[in-house]
Amino acid sequence: MSHLFPTYGRWEVEPESAKGSYIKAVDGKNYLDFTSGIGVCNLGHCHPEVEDAVLKQMKKYWHVSNLFPQSIQEQAAKQLAVASGLDLVFFANSGAEANEAAIKLARKATNRSKIISFTNSFHGRTFGSMAATGQDKIKQGFGPMLETFVHLPFNDSAALLAEIDDQTAAIVLEIVQGEGGINVVEAEFIATIKKACEEKGALLIVDEIQTGIGRTGKPFAFQHYPIVPDIITVAKGLGSGFPIGAVVGSGKLKDAFGPGSHGSTFGGNPVALSAALATMKIVFSETFLNEAVNTGQYLFTQLEAKLGHLEIVKDIRGLGLMIGIEISGQVAEVLGELRLNEFLALPAGKNVIRLLPPLNVEKNEVDKAVELLLKSLSNVPSAAV
Ligand SMILES: *Cc1c(COP(=O)(O)O)cnc(C)c1O
Repeated sequence: MSHLFPTYGRWEVEPESAKGSYIKAVDGKNYLDFTSGIGVCNLGHCHPEVEDAVLKQMKKYWHVSNLFPQSIQEQAAKQLAVASGLDLVFFANSGAEANEAAIKLARKATNRSKIISFTNSFHGRTFGSMAATGQDKIKQGFGPMLETFVHLPFNDSAALLAEIDDQTAAIVLEIVQGEGGINVVEAEFIATIKKACEEKGALLIVDEIQTGIGRTGKPFAFQHYPIVPDIITVAKGLGSGFPIGAVVGSGKLKDAFGPGSHGSTFGGNPVALSAALATMKIVFSETFLNEAVNTGQYLFTQLEAKLGHLEIVKDIRGLGLMIGIEISGQVAEVLGELRLNEFLALPAGKNVIRLLPPLNVEKNEVDKAVELLLKSLSNVPSAAV
């Protein structure tokens, strides 16, 4: 028997090794991986520059605790601040932890407790981040949620304006809802949110855990719009697979996170940070991001040209290299069929195929992906219910 809690529905693929856009399985199959470890390995698997940086740090020291000043933390914080236009960073170990810290920071800084989030959002599995999440299935069976979280329909400015008030500590949203279906925020909605936050003295928290670190073609997805949030949360792609999360905030929030206000034993771990530094150095360069934008556009137009006519395909949408294909019927069956063809993709909600390829995926790999998607979607008549 397995001694693991059965929390995950697992695939039938056991990895043996992984490199670039491919995962080699123990049975010898070679899978083209458009999941990137759920938006984590944005440079592909085992990028040599990240590997070098990690090995170098491993030879120095692994962990000493936050009782010590560590210049690697300062360097990584500076990169995040420069890339986002914000000022101060707290390092955590995961996305949920980063959101948890952001919620605490917003409540303390405003001395208010009401937080507005949106239907179909996903913010994590800890109590605070779960309460923020706008999906009932995530919360089932866990009893009463934390109070003062209000969920509103996404992209509905009228509902937002009716709810936000001078008791609102923060609004938290994803620029592209990742788990919830690849739903892109409308420019008008984010403008309304920003203005309403300023008027009511609420903070704007953008959850960039899936969208950040180049995934949408900018360092952070909010940069597609003429706004700067008060707080962003980052995790997944930041460490290329090493566990790390970060809260990046405006300098005006400094006093709310003074000594003793928040902490984490492992947060700011130098090995994870060495991976983050090497990752950011590559991803935040303009040439790298331009290339990722071009690849994203190429993938998108190929999907529209080759799959757009299929009856099962209802919509193709996304931003950069975060793309959803909405189908009629259940996505699980299509993903299973894709795996039989040695191609890995993710679900987003029940009926969206989510593609999160490495940002440096090659053109021939994109062509192969589109071909395999076409083949599999044409092969799954029963999905078209
Ligand atoms: C994955 C994700 C989280 C949770 O991150 P964990 O590292 O799994 O805790 C939170 N928000 C968004 C948008 C995510 O995609």
